[in-house]
Amino acid sequence: VVTNQLHTINTDAKTLLNTVFGHSAFRGQQAEIIKHISTGGDALVLMPTGGGKSLCYQLPSILRQGTGIVVSPLIALMQDQVDKLTQQGIKAALINANIPNEVARETVQLAFRGELDLLYISPERLVSDFFLAILDGLYQSNKIALFAIDEAHCITQWGHDFRPEYRQLSTLHDRYPSVPRIALTATADPKTQTEIREQLGLSQAKRFISSFLRPNLAYTVTDKQSAKHQLLDFLQPRAGQAGIVYCATRKKVEQIADWLFSVGYNALPYHAGLSPEIRQTALQRFQQESGLIVVATIAFGMGIDRADVRFVAHLDLPRNLESYYQETGRAGRDGYAAENWMCYGLHDVLTVVLRNSHSPSAHVELMELLAYCETPKCRQVALLSHFGEAAAPCGICDNCLEPPTYWDATVATQKALSVIYRTGMMFGSQHLIDVLLGKSTPKVREYGHEKLPTFGVGKEHKRSEWRRIFRQLLVAGYIEFNPEGFGALRLTEHARTVLSGNASVSLKQLPLQNIGKYSNEEKRDD
Ligand code: ADP
Ligand code: ZN
Repeated sequence: VVTNQLHTINTDAKTLLNTVFGHSAFRGQQAEIIKHISTGGDALVLMPTGGGKSLCYQLPSILRQGTGIVVSPLIALMQDQVDKLTQQGIKAALINANIPNEVARETVQLAFRGELDLLYISPERLVSDFFLAILDGLYQSNKIALFAIDEAHCITQWGHDFRPEYRQLSTLHDRYPSVPRIALTATADPKTQTEIREQLGLSQAKRFISSFLRPNLAYTVTDKQSAKHQLLDFLQPRAGQAGIVYCATRKKVEQIADWLFSVGYNALPYHAGLSPEIRQTALQRFQQESGLIVVATIAFGMGIDRADVRFVAHLDLPRNLESYYQETGRAGRDGYAAENWMCYGLHDVLTVVLRNSHSPSAHVELMELLAYCETPKCRQVALLSHFGEAAAPCGICDNCLEPPTYWDATVATQKALSVIYRTGMMFGSQHLIDVLLGKSTPKVREYGHEKLPTFGVGKEHKRSEWRRIFRQLLVAGYIEFNPEGFGALRLTEHARTVLSGNASVSLKQLPLQNIGKYSNEEKRDD
């Protein structure tokens, strides 16, 4: 009997997949997860964004008797999901703070009559006494198909997505023990995983952990010297390919899009400040046109369904490693080779530090991101280890193709640290480098810094090299930005051993092919 039942579930699932969802085959672990939930098991699902998590609870909600209750923290996305499901002929509805009471009441009636497949609900509403009483009623008449807890990492307090109400979701297990629960997230670090399992009472749940490996993606992180030049060099051999160029601000998005267009690229801007019509057109064009480059803020991402995106370029630092993985993951969905390229400099780091000055968790994320940028290891290995996954060197990233070499930078470091110390830890890299290079600028004269013993002691390195040195010292933890000092650098505890001559420092050499390549590297700004 059991085998028969399983057989039925499998065939029914496959039929629903084809006829209702319009997909020809299950992806990755979808089939196993759906089987497990449909037969009443609990599950913890870790799958990268775009991997197809929604199907894992949508399909069992239809297969099983009753309504599947989906907890989702993002009200904006809920409506999209429900619209999409309704179009596919699936009976779906939502309840959140924006939904009038009468409408919510009708929705509940549908559930009681067994005429609702899926109900999306915000965590606040779900844990309200009022709604729990409704759930009690549904449970007694066997009308709850499952509980899906989407974006389950919202339960972790240290993450930037923390939602206190998620902590109360453990009640679902106690109140409705026979209803299967599925928690889903794309945040896969082991710490988060443990927290989800403990907080939601899912320690017995079966774990489905998908690999985050995207072996066709080649990653490169390069030093910002002359960003536009470098971008052109990157784009030139890729003419005719579709790609995305991410920038941090709307203003920069527009500037870069205009400039790319003016030098002959089919480029258009995309950011949240543009009208919905313009954004819609941009999305449609991106879906269809070959060789189109969209220059965008992170607002561009949702709803992109193009499989042959051949490159993703970052002209600014992404928010954190997870955003970076998501943004770069939009390249090469068709499985063919695709390139992810990022260009960053000291100035970018400062921008982020100033923006995050009041958020310790954002600072931790920045340091993780910078460690990735400066790593001598394979990029895939570094990225996947952030998600708690081991990988073999990819052979196609910058570090695999040209393993970084190091030089003994002890003397340079001592000079850099001592100029920071002697100027009172009040100045930014620009001024500090002026002093090292012996430039008698008005500011140098104003503070009498031409009289310092460190004045002019760093002429053996160019300005761009000094910027590289300061950046690497920052990532290595010898120096840090003073958050109140608008770019002022100060020494850390760690700097002391180098200043006293008790430690040597080696830093990464600039890749050979980049040395002296960008003519305006003496420019004072990044
Ligand atoms: P996630 O929630 O993991 O980010 P989604 O559930 O939104 O991912 O799915 C991402 C995309 O993949 C959607 O466009 C969805 O229609 C598509 N998709 C999901 N499962 C399949 C499948 N088995 N075959 C083809 N496309 C799929
Ligand atoms: Zn590699």
